[in-house]
This record gives sequence, structure tokens and C-alpha cells, in this order.
Amino acid sequence: EYVMVDGRTLDRSAAKVDIEDRGYQFGDGVYEVIRVYNGKMFTGMEHLKRLKESAEKIQMKLPYSPEELLARMEELILKNEVDTGTVYMQFTRGISPRNHVFPGENVATTFVAYTRKVPRPVEPMEKGVCAILDEDIRWLRCDIKSLNLLGNLLSKQRAAEANCFEAILHRGETVTEGSHSNISIVKDGVIITHQADNHILNGITRQKMLEICRNESIPFEERAFSLDELSSADEVFSSGTTVEVMPVVEVAGKPVGNGRPGSVTRQLQALFKAEIERQCGQ
Ligand code: PMP
Repeated sequence: EYVMVDGRTLDRSAAKVDIEDRGYQFGDGVYEVIRVYNGKMFTGMEHLKRLKESAEKIQMKLPYSPEELLARMEELILKNEVDTGTVYMQFTRGISPRNHVFPGENVATTFVAYTRKVPRPVEPMEKGVCAILDEDIRWLRCDIKSLNLLGNLLSKQRAAEANCFEAILHRGETVTEGSHSNISIVKDGVIITHQADNHILNGITRQKMLEICRNESIPFEERAFSLDELSSADEVFSSGTTVEVMPVVEVAGKPVGNGRPGSVTRQLQALFKAEIERQCGQ
């Protein structure tokens, strides 16, 4: 199993983190997860552009361009013989004596990347999953894919303790997103999903889904929706890189619609799968 640390490819056991790495001490860094199907990255460039944008939003300059990173990740996937899986990569603001103030330009970022073999979640995608509700206590820059995930972790842990897949987060009456995915509802055939602003991570899966909707003339609205709209929705689904389009059939112990994956969600799943096959082959 090979991993990449800064410019080098190493055996995983040889990779070490410095105790004063700012990612480790402060969560001062950004990351991405890219899906691999058939040995090829799906929407790789979109993820790497978002990584660059996340870095810029925290005033961090990446030492590689998205194109260079894409090539390095292709190498790693090949070396580790990943067929279906994920690539994880993160940049931190480097190693420097602990101080809240950013280190100078002379301190290089720390870059780590590794792959994992992860199957598609076929069974839950068929049956649907349950979700709990949880107050969104995170900071107000959820658009940045930062390493600070404690708010997300606390919610996901609550979901796991309730044997649920996801925690649907809300700020007061307004639903934002999930602890590790975007949340959409379907009402009278229209998909509704929170607008891309500082309250959510603008998921690449979410963006791909909306592009599919545009092409297929499936109506959608990008706007905030309420807890009441969530509980009276015909369908609810979660979307994300590893979970794809996941039907949510129970929210806070109550069935969504008839308690089975809905027709619009199923249609989106099929169109999404077709898009994967178009980009990565069968
Ligand atoms: N929101 C949050 C909080 C996430 O962690 C993720 C990533 N799993 C998403 C949304 C979905 O983003 P993407 O489709 O780019 O994976």
C-alpha cells in the first residue's frame, strides 16, 4: 500500500506526521475525496478545482496545480491497483512552532494522499436509509472543505448511535445539509436543495445531479427549505461522493412518503450511474 507525502511516494508504514503540523494541531488545512470507478477518477477535475478554491478561502497557496495533482493521483491509483474506491488528499499549512498566526511564506504546506478500496453502497442505495435530525452547530463557512469536522462528527456520531446513516442538520427551522452529504427533498415532482452559499458544502455530486436535471428537464429549485417541508416531502435523498444518490426513507423515526425509495430518487440514481459509466466505463 503506497501513500504520497509531499512530492514522494512511500510505503504507508514509512509515512509520519510531525507533532507540530498545523493540520494535526489546529485542523488548519483542506481536503478532498474523489471516487474511483474502474480505476478512473470520477469528476476528478471538479474536486481538484474545489480543493484550490477551499485553499484560497483560507489564504493557503497549493504547490501543485489541479492538472499536476490529477496526474499524481492517477499514478497512485495505478500503483495501488484500485478498481473501485476513493482517493483522499489533504493539504495543511505546514510544520511550524505552535502559534495561531499563520507561518511565513517560507513554510511549505504538508501534502498527504492515499487510496482506499471502497465498494459502491449498492444495498442501502436499493433499500434506502434512515436519518436523525440535529441542530447545525457548525461555523458559518461550511462552503470550505476544511479539516475542522468536529461539528460534523458529533452529529454523525449521534446518527450512528441511533443506527442511522445520516444526521440531517438544521439551523433553527431551516434545513442546511447532512453531516457528511447534501440533502434534497422532492415535492410534487420538483427537487429542492439548499442554495450553494456559506451554510453548505457545494457538493460535486450535488452539482453533477443539478447538471443532469438541467439536461433531462427535471425541475429543481436551489433554495433553503424548512423542517416542515422536510417532514411533508414526497421523497428525501442524500448525495455525496462515496454515497452517490442515497434514498432517505425515514427521518426522525417517521417514514418519508410510503417509506420506500421514491421514483424521482430512483430516476436520478439511474441517470447518475449512466454518467459514471460514460466517464469511467462499465
Ligand atoms: N456536505 C458535507 C458536509 C460533506 O462532508 C460532503 C462530502 N461527503 C458533502 C456535502 C457532499 O459533497 P461531495 O458530493 O462533493 O462529496
